Amino acid sequence: MSENEDCIFCKVVRGKLPAYIVYKDDFVTAFHDINPQAPVHVLIVPTRHIADLEAAAQEDPELVGRMSQAATRIAGDLHVAKNGYRLVLNNGAGAGQIVPHVHMHMMAGRKFNWPPG
Ligand code: 5GP
Ligand code: ZN
Repeated sequence: MSENEDCIFCKVVRGKLPAYIVYKDDFVTAFHDINPQAPVHVLIVPTRHIADLEAAAQEDPELVGRMSQAATRIAGDLHVAKNGYRLVLNNGAGAGQIVPHVHMHMMAGRKFNWPPG
């Protein structure tokens, strides 16, 4: 499925819902989270609709690599590579995935604790 009409991230990717886009290539789009949990909080999503990691494994096994590569470029652009950044992928409702369009959270600009809450 390339687009899901009910999906908010599909709407963002297609410019139907406003967002501050920081990166785009042929495969992924990245934009600021509407409810940031850190001074820098960017969501990296596939441009086409893929619900979760299980669907990604079937439809585009290289997707997570593409998302990670985008993260390194965004880190450079936003000058957070040196201090470090946290990548989080909540996969499935039980792990906290609310939006069923797979996405990587990229957060930076504060201290991050381990284990996560
Ligand atoms: P999840 O809990 O699914 O891993 O994360 C979903 C994220 O999407 C949340 O951090 C939430 O703030 C963000 N979000 C939800 N709706 C919108 C929206 O319309 N625009 C943007 N930019 N972020 C959104
Ligand atoms: Zn979608």
